[in-house]
Amino acid sequence: GSDSHYDFVIVGGGTSGLVVANRLSELGDVSVAVIEAGDSVLNNHNVSTTTGYGLSFGTAIDWAYQTEDQIYAGGSKQTMRAGKAIGGTSTINGMSYTRAQKVQIDSWEKFGNKGWNWDSLFPYYLKSEQFQVPTADQAARGADYYKSYHGEHGPLKVGWPKFMTNSSVLPILDQTFQQLGVSYNRDINGGSMVGLTVHPDTIDREANVRHDAARAYFWPYENRSNLKIISNTYANKIVWGEDSGGDAVAVGVEVRGVEGVETIYASKEVILSAGSLKSPAILEHSGIGNPDILKKHGISLKVNISSVGENLQDQTNNGLFYEGKEFWLGLPTFSALPSAEQIYGDDSSTVASRVSSNLADYAKNVSVASNGAVQEANVLAALQLQYDLVFKSHVPFAEIVLIPIGHSFSSEYWPLLPFSRGSVHIQSPDPSEAPAINPNYFMFAPDLDAQVGVARFIRKAFETSPLNHLVGEEYAPGFEHVPEDASDSVWQSWVRSNYRSNFHPVGTVSMLSRDKGGAVGPDLKVYGTKNVRVIDASVVPFQLCGHLTSTLYAIAERASDLIKKRYVF
Ligand code: FAD
Repeated sequence: GSDSHYDFVIVGGGTSGLVVANRLSELGDVSVAVIEAGDSVLNNHNVSTTTGYGLSFGTAIDWAYQTEDQIYAGGSKQTMRAGKAIGGTSTINGMSYTRAQKVQIDSWEKFGNKGWNWDSLFPYYLKSEQFQVPTADQAARGADYYKSYHGEHGPLKVGWPKFMTNSSVLPILDQTFQQLGVSYNRDINGGSMVGLTVHPDTIDREANVRHDAARAYFWPYENRSNLKIISNTYANKIVWGEDSGGDAVAVGVEVRGVEGVETIYASKEVILSAGSLKSPAILEHSGIGNPDILKKHGISLKVNISSVGENLQDQTNNGLFYEGKEFWLGLPTFSALPSAEQIYGDDSSTVASRVSSNLADYAKNVSVASNGAVQEANVLAALQLQYDLVFKSHVPFAEIVLIPIGHSFSSEYWPLLPFSRGSVHIQSPDPSEAPAINPNYFMFAPDLDAQVGVARFIRKAFETSPLNHLVGEEYAPGFEHVPEDASDSVWQSWVRSNYRSNFHPVGTVSMLSRDKGGAVGPDLKVYGTKNVRVIDASVVPFQLCGHLTSTLYAIAERASDLIKKRYVF
């Protein structure tokens, strides 16, 4: 019927997809449909409550993808959480709002993505943001900022929780971390992230609810007559037009909805925003990817891009846990982001040269693990970039989250730029079957070394005055399991048996030039297609030091402008 024809069809009403839907439907004369597998979570308390992190895990709105056995990390599978809802993963995430280090975004342009650098993305961080200036009470508890780093008029509310941790904590953390060489950073959202900080969250302070992509970009605009969300509907694959010898032309998307399988037609473009664990799988089901993989599942090749689904980069998370000597109320947002030098101290140059001398070997291993789908030289260039960021540009090496709450003081941490590379590929011709996800956690020694090095650093921080006065017993790992003088191998086995995914997968449909192993260009259009774009965490070519949503909102804002320029004269 006529209700299945639109100008733009967006697959995935998540963090990125809803930005694009909102901005494109600002053009009154185009129609936009969003296909979303999940449903509304507007009235889901697990989503809206600001103190409910984790409540949605394992519920119907969590895809809870299972990885392959992680052979370098003890052998077990991991759960990779992702939101299945209008609003996507922004409805279940930790709400932290931190961007990236300037040089990281600048590296995108250095790798061939013309127009993508910090200065060109920065206005879009601001465009998406509606910064909530801290109250006097929040300021007293450590909320601080530079005005020029923040936007006032965007849809996404960013600020500090209504109830923050007691004001006595920040000075104690500051004095402690200064002794470990980590200084206070008043506002890490200006492109310079190293330091101890009290970061903002994606929160509507006055309503005291999570501000996810749906609350920010969709619900206030749901009555636009040219914007339609088709929920509870699963996208199987792209439907192609007649082959005319040139670039492939998408005419719509095959979906399985409440009324069975049908096609939703797109007269202008199909945009995939299904997330970094799903967009590559949809491409493969549509005939775009590595010919060997498609052949195995009887899918005819439309465009040969062997890197689709490769280059998967996630981080690994462990936690230390202490008895608290006080009772803390309020939602803490303290993070320390030390550089590699601050973590490794005098050993830092030894660590750096060990990593450096092995990069070529790692690149070779990644290429072999991909059966040649990614080229050694391209992987090496990416690993070298990452090495330079860590050891020459001194970007943050780890995020250490500090959580005083109730009668406990815990810390979760993740090294920010692991060298391991994995993949996500379909494992069946049936689109409803989840893809095989293999992040290859701890594939290379420096990643496990980093996980141990940061844990040791955190233990030292909790032993340093004045922080040591706030905590009692170490419950985890605990000195009986990991003694004070524990060897690397003792720490490593603790890491392997307790780590989890940090839920920051990126890179599976990388924005890079085609000869460097990219799948989309700087216009985010899939190579070899006329009108298919990918706009979500898949396109981020290299892992970031910030949490992802702030940058994904900015990418989606900028991408929307690029698309609009094509259709408005
Ligand atoms: P998503 O937001 O996941 O959107 C994809 C959408 O596509 C989903 O709605 C999904 O249901 C839909 N979809 C998938 N397949 C199909 C299909 N075949 N048909 C139809 N629809 C489909 N980031 C931060 O910035 N701060 C944090 O504190 C933070 N904490 C996190 C905590 C957790 C537990 C997790 C899981 C992530 C966290 N992140 C955090 C990361 C961040 O939330 C995600 O990287 C980001 O939301 C991903 O956005 P996206 O647009 O790529 O995909």
